[in-house]
Amino acid sequence: MSEEPLPGSPGPVRVRVPAKINLHLAVGLPRDDGYHDLTTVYQAISLYDEVVVEPAAGLELVVNGEGAEDVPLDDSNLAARAVYALAERTGRSPNVRIVMRKGIPVAGGMAGGSADAAATLVACDALWACGLSRDELAETAAELGSDVPFALYGGTALGTGRGERLSPVLARTQRHWVIAIANGGLSTPDVFKELDRLRSTDRPPPRTAGADALLRALREEAATPLAKVIANDLQPAAISLRPSLRRTLAAGVESGALGGAVSGSGPTCVFLAEDGDHAVRVAAGLSGLGVCRTVRTAYGPVPGARVV
Ligand code: ATP
Repeated sequence: MSEEPLPGSPGPVRVRVPAKINLHLAVGLPRDDGYHDLTTVYQAISLYDEVVVEPAAGLELVVNGEGAEDVPLDDSNLAARAVYALAERTGRSPNVRIVMRKGIPVAGGMAGGSADAAATLVACDALWACGLSRDELAETAAELGSDVPFALYGGTALGTGRGERLSPVLARTQRHWVIAIANGGLSTPDVFKELDRLRSTDRPPPRTAGADALLRALREEAATPLAKVIANDLQPAAISLRPSLRRTLAAGVESGALGGAVSGSGPTCVFLAEDGDHAVRVAAGLSGLGVCRTVRTAYGPVPGARVV
């Protein structure tokens, strides 16, 4: 793709957008609309997708990077839905070429599709000179999916409703994470269905309490208190569908991590380390145990979708 703008036409806009992890994910009962009420604490971490948008004759999608072959190239791609939604809202033409470079694992429980949608909103807003504020973009983001508004803001935030109602959380200390990326993904709706099934049995998994302990631990400098309170109600359901995750979680702790959990609906697992050097050692140990496809280190919180 040409990086040089044609004379008289706006040039390509490049946006970098982070993955999210859920430090706390409490799942309530299914609602009438089929969604579950959630209380979650998101953190944006330094694992990124990149989205480049430029004018074109029609809407074109290109996806590169890891897992690109599993990403739809039709109107079901969340980035395409973002273009249509913003074009309709602002009266612009949706004729753009979007090139996505995936660094966030596809169907990995890290909201990669939502990240691309958020990045596309930011990129089209700049390309079309709409001048919408982040709060205005967040209104369109919430219509696209529960995790899309968070990918716009980044940082650390408490999410309620379907996860789309956000309030920022004070979390000044940088945390260091080790990310175990699995082979293949898990479908988020399947994981929620599995949780409902497990909860209807006579041995339902325990429910996570409120997020207060997690919010307190985030205000502490030390990482160990935080490791003790990371919780995810979807974890038993993800393990039930993918029993090998039990071994991955154990391997993270064997490798010296302070604690870990399945990220969102999985199958990615995230582990907390003391600092950057410790994260590299845990990552090396985890790689050697051969329990996942790839191991990465990352830090958070980082800002949300930004033009670069
Ligand atoms: P969720 O956000 O539902 O928790 P996830 O983080 O587990 O999902 P995603 O990478 O967002 O996983 O992808 C979930 C599914 O969404 C994919 O299997 C794919 O079919 C579809 N999808 C649509 N648009 C995209 C996109 N831009 N990138 C990745 N997947 C996409």
